[in-house]
Amino acid sequence: MKSIQYYGPMNIKYEDVPIKPPQEGEVVVKVMSALTCGTDVKTFRRGHPVLIKSTPSGFGHEFAGYVEKVGRNVMNVKVGDRVVAANSAPCGKCFYCKREEYNLCENLDLLNGAYAQYITVPSRIVEKNMLILPNDLSFDKAAFCEPLANVVHGVERTDIKEGQTVGIIGIGPIGLMFARLAKLKGARVIVAGRNPIKLKAAEEFAHVDEIVDLKKYPNPEMIFKDFTEERKGLDVAVECVGLPEIWERIFNCVRPGGTVHFFGGCKSGSKVSFDTTKMHYGDIKLMSVFHHTPKYFRMALNHIASGKVEVEKLITDTLPLEKIEYAMQQHIDGKAIKFLIKPWME
Ligand SMILES: [Zn+2]
Ligand SMILES: [Zn+2]
Repeated sequence: MKSIQYYGPMNIKYEDVPIKPPQEGEVVVKVMSALTCGTDVKTFRRGHPVLIKSTPSGFGHEFAGYVEKVGRNVMNVKVGDRVVAANSAPCGKCFYCKREEYNLCENLDLLNGAYAQYITVPSRIVEKNMLILPNDLSFDKAAFCEPLANVVHGVERTDIKEGQTVGIIGIGPIGLMFARLAKLKGARVIVAGRNPIKLKAAEEFAHVDEIVDLKKYPNPEMIFKDFTEERKGLDVAVECVGLPEIWERIFNCVRPGGTVHFFGGCKSGSKVSFDTTKMHYGDIKLMSVFHHTPKYFRMALNHIASGKVEVEKLITDTLPLEKIEYAMQQHIDGKAIKFLIKPWME
């Protein structure tokens, strides 16, 4: 099969590799649609010790397609089924799984290899996180389940109430999906960003109430405040960039009694500082949420199938497999939200 193999930072190759035959419980999926993701871009630029432990490795983790082959003892899907699978599944046995904190599972083996014509899905993911698609749901849309599952998790745990004012800095695909889901919760949503393609998507995809172009207004704190009752500040302030200086900045946008959600993961070892007086006497809740669980993966599929989250609006362009390197570069240059990759496209 044709595939993209990852050899190290800035080093990927378009190659012919054998299809890995399915072992017990495993499923080979014929990939019909895959998506580029910010995590892949990070991995492409500087490697990823958690995601890719040895090289060469498959690359890409958001996909949907047909079940091509099944190993022994696969119960939940059969050859020909149209499916989507997550990039991990909890083990069910470790300290965290026993406490139902599945996203923190100590054995979350992350799956890579979506940028290929076929992907062999490990048994645990088949069993816990492989779902059959509704007949009328396209592979292109279904491939969004994994990134959306992260965001559904983030939004559900934030406990956003109707009528609250939610402000988000960072409008990559994750920030945009967060904004959309906050709108669906009945919140007033204001977003801030600087990339023109993404600012447009904030309107057309996320349908937010207010958009701040940071190129014109470099201090979102003031504008966020102007947007709230009595200029008290945001009920919920969300960081979707993953930079320590923005973490510090979003803290200054929340009102006393509000919640700050640091949703963008920073480079490992990053440090931030906050005013403890504002936090303690202001009764401010600080939180972070990482990854997804089987429950949120299912909710993401329902959101997409219902048509309430029009994920297809986040696709900048459709590309064949051999264009992955170009796609990564376009992301680095800020020229794309997400690329749809079609491994069978000529
Ligand atoms: Zn992703
Ligand atoms: Zn576990």
